Amino acid sequence: MDFEPFIRHISDFPKPGISFKDITPLLNNPKAFSAAAETLFEMVSVGKIDKVVGIDSRGFIFAPILAKKLDAGFVPVRKKGKLPFTTISESFDLEYGVDRLEVHTDAIKRGEKVLVHDDVLATGGTAKAVCNLVEKLGGEVVQCNFLIVLEYLNGPQKLNGYPLTSLLTY
Ligand code: 5GP
Repeated sequence: MDFEPFIRHISDFPKPGISFKDITPLLNNPKAFSAAAETLFEMVSVGKIDKVVGIDSRGFIFAPILAKKLDAGFVPVRKKGKLPFTTISESFDLEYGVDRLEVHTDAIKRGEKVLVHDDVLATGGTAKAVCNLVEKLGGEVVQCNFLIVLEYLNGPQKLNGYPLTSLLTY
């Protein structure tokens, strides 16, 4: 399926100069939504996955679906202050700002194989911080998958060494 018609490009959001990729038309269309979940799942060709990590907040849409299909656990990585149990954290640079991500210390066990999922890879700061969190807990990142990779922002270079897949590339 061609997913491009379901992505809306919003100029100057959330700041001047940024072309924001709005995925809500894709979510809104039952066929596109279902096909996106199926295609993301089919792109996971790395053997047994123990945990699927979804990144706050749009990573939470497809990551639990992938976890169910892969018979894996779902792990939410959240912005600071949202998780109630003991956490470890990692700072990161956004395309627009700086923030901190956290994960529960018992979410991933040493040696577990982990798929990292988010909606968009932009500069790569967010996903790289999440990979660092997974590795701090002793997990192995076996793939990072996204709906969209914005290659012109050089995110793939930041994720150098991690197998990377996406539905769409700009
Ligand atoms: P990065 O750290 O790679 O620069 O930014 C990626 C994070 O910011 C992701 O969690 C993603 O949800 C969000 N993000 C950055 N740019 C866009 C965009 O154009 N569209 C959407 N939907 N999310 C974006």
